[in-house]
Amino acid sequence: VFDVLVVGGGPAGAAAAIYAARKGIKTGLAAERFGGQVLDTMAIENFISVPHTEGPKLVSGLEAHVRDYEVDVMNLQKAVKLVPAKAEGGVHEIELESGATLKAKSLVLAPGARWRQMGVPGEDQYRNKGVAYCPHCDGPLFKGKRVAVIGGGNSGVEAAIDLAGIVSHVTLIEFDAQLRADAVLQRKLASLPNVTVITQALTTEVLGDGNKVTGLVYRNRETTTEHTVELEGIFVQIGLVPNTEWLAGALALTPRGEIEVDAHGRTSLPGVFAGGDATTTPFKQIVIALGEGAKASLSAFDYLIRLPAE
Ligand code: FAD
Repeated sequence: VFDVLVVGGGPAGAAAAIYAARKGIKTGLAAERFGGQVLDTMAIENFISVPHTEGPKLVSGLEAHVRDYEVDVMNLQKAVKLVPAKAEGGVHEIELESGATLKAKSLVLAPGARWRQMGVPGEDQYRNKGVAYCPHCDGPLFKGKRVAVIGGGNSGVEAAIDLAGIVSHVTLIEFDAQLRADAVLQRKLASLPNVTVITQALTTEVLGDGNKVTGLVYRNRETTTEHTVELEGIFVQIGLVPNTEWLAGALALTPRGEIEVDAHGRTSLPGVFAGGDATTTPFKQIVIALGEGAKASLSAFDYLIRLPAE
């Protein structure tokens, strides 16, 4: 039985495991893929105190740091079910896809999230070569260039406003006949001189020269005509999906599937804590996930020292 079992091996999970192990308690970490989204990232320029790094390099740093401590790292292990303790203060179980079951007095859930993709030709090929998902991360890489934002919900319109201050021109492409973002954001967007909004448009292809993005093709859904926009960057903002399908029914999730946490990283289930992109914590970033993972882990320790002696 683990004292703390961490589910997830991204920044939040790695930080949680290190903080738990440093308390000298029995710590495990199960991850479907150690490194998480950071493995899919090229340039990282907002990891404070490291002006520039790359995803795989940061992941090897995370892994080396975790392995400095007595953490039982179970990589390539997917959790498929959380079975809550029968009574408060009892042992929780995590069922793995392999059929094994892990037991722990406390859990830190850090399964992260995934960006919804457009699923059009060129998107995968030019990922990190012009196709981007995170304006806070990659916006400055497109300084002075032309970009599109795909999606006119709150995150798309926020991204367009943010990017308009950095890039030369933003084309916002929305599938529906109108934007779905809050009115205040739409008013702000309309006031910007270097933003064009195209509605009723379905992006059908990402164009490139073999090395980087050169444009996109969209179809006007009313006239069915196809149009090409020349640009250097495409920010896909059609949703960030938390990896929490397997937790439904075990603890409180928001309608969007985020794990509800309080300021201490406590979930609705006693002894179960969570941090990072899978939770209701706003702003999905590496430094935030690290901090939230550490916090959830300290809260788990706080919980454990209050359990009655065995
Ligand atoms: P994740 O990194 O998503 O890790 C989740 C972990 O949980 C993984 O190990 C995963 O395999 C595991 N997992 C998921 N489901 C299960 C399951 N059922 N069972 C077991 N394990 C499971 N942020 C920045 O700050 N700067 C950047 O420059 C930056 N660039 C980015 C570029 C891209 C392309 C992407 C996709 C994201 C970028 N981000 C960036 C965001 C950043 O990567 C995330 O905010 C951060 O990784 C979140 O950490 P996390 O630990 O919460 O989740």
